[in-house]
Amino acid sequence: MTRDELLDLYRRSGALLDGHFRLTSGLHSPGYLQCALVLQHPPHAEALGRAIADHTRDLRPTVVLSPALGGVVIGHEVGRALGVRAIFAERQDGALTLRRGFALDPGEKVIVVEDVVTTGGSTRETMDVARAAGAIVVGACAIVDRSGGKQGLDVPFHALLPMDVTTYQPEECPLCKQGIAVVKPGSRTPAKP
Ligand SMILES: [Zn+2]
Repeated sequence: MTRDELLDLYRRSGALLDGHFRLTSGLHSPGYLQCALVLQHPPHAEALGRAIADHTRDLRPTVVLSPALGGVVIGHEVGRALGVRAIFAERQDGALTLRRGFALDPGEKVIVVEDVVTTGGSTRETMDVARAAGAIVVGACAIVDRSGGKQGLDVPFHALLPMDVTTYQPEECPLCKQGIAVVKPGSRTPAKP
């Protein structure tokens, strides 16, 4: 899947948004990619999973591990394409944890799969979950990389769509200065600035 095909898929799914957004990081941005809007279509999710799998097969992972919620659907599709199981870690008292009986065997080869990487923080935390279980993290991947190449992971990393999304500190945001209401992506109501 080429970059243009991927962007076209996002555009057609209404997942490439223009406006004035307050990101989870607190920064403001004129654009946002809502991966869930693409992944809601199972054939699209499957195609993205296959594309990621094609980049990670050589690492010979035996299990996919994703952080909930964002990584669950794409992780499952990567697992399907690789023919390995797909599990997820979720937050309990603030820390990512394996629950529901999910377990990793010592020495198992894990690939961490996310929808979007921004700072790499949740990817690193997911890698820590795998390593704490004695598994080996062989790589990490995402659909979208918003880090500008600064995710700083200590394993091979691949994203289908490296994207430089402009961000502003709220106090320096030109959209705020124009008086445009800032919204939290995914919500219909204006966010507190
Ligand atoms: Zn703003």
